[in-house]
Amino acid sequence: MINASRLVVVSGGATGIGRAIAGAFATDGDRVVIIGRREELLRQAAEEMNRAAGSASVIPIGADLTEPSEVERAADRIAELGTVDVLVNNAGAIITPPAESGLGALAASWRHDLEINLITAVLLTNALLDRLTRPGGRLVMISSAAAQRGGAGSHSAGSYAAAKAALHGWALGLARQLGPDGITVNILAPGYIQDTDIFRGQDTPEFVAAKIADTLVGRPGTPADVAAAVRYIASADAGYLTGQIIGLNGGAVLGR
Ligand code: NDP
Repeated sequence: MINASRLVVVSGGATGIGRAIAGAFATDGDRVVIIGRREELLRQAAEEMNRAAGSASVIPIGADLTEPSEVERAADRIAELGTVDVLVNNAGAIITPPAESGLGALAASWRHDLEINLITAVLLTNALLDRLTRPGGRLVMISSAAAQRGGAGSHSAGSYAAAKAALHGWALGLARQLGPDGITVNILAPGYIQDTDIFRGQDTPEFVAAKIADTLVGRPGTPADVAAAVRYIASADAGYLTGQIIGLNGGAVLGR
């Protein structure tokens, strides 16, 4: 799986899964743009990844991807670096369900979830659409097993699962649209992935044990598991793989 140095964009690339993905591409010798809202964190993450890769290939760009003007600004900076070979829409979050009751709070919480988990990807992709490498470009959406299983119980109201499932519908259409240009679009839906911020504070031993019990392989996923899958989907070898929803969940969606 050897690719010439490419330009890769990873949203949410300073932390957790995104960081593992960005680090894997940087180690492969690619130039990697990482995007997030926390600029100092981004700068530090880029420095650490550059040190590990022994190069200056990771470039931090601060932007709130729910804000169209900030997305445009980020896309203009990316355009200065060249055409985008790989875009990984990884930014996302599980929104804590509202403490207050009432439809107003419910609507606000759902809108927020859709903004962070769906609109970020839609805006960044559209801003970069004309700047994708044709043929050969690769789009990867980081979704969640919650979109396949339904989001309920301890960690999420239905809005997270619904936002990720909406990502699927949109991305599958994009695969149709971009296939003739030689661009692949795939959706990677991880199950429980340990050691990221998304479940921080919630990941009690009981919570983790329940997540592991859901799997067939008896262990949680890691950011490195996700990075390895993204690396393949984004590789030159994966040109025949498009329009797929790929579960990466240790068999968790099958149930026991
Ligand atoms: P993290 O909280 O570590 O990563 C989320 C990243 O998204 C952060 O870097 C955050 O940076 C960025 N982000 C959030 N909102 C915005 C925004 N408005 N604009 C720009 N960047 C934003 O959690 P994970 O690594 O776990 O999550 C990464 C992805 O994986 C998410 O899409 C998540 O839904 C998905 N996922 C995670 C699973 C898990 O078990 N961990 C399971 C299934 C899916 P900042 O706050 O600085 O903006």
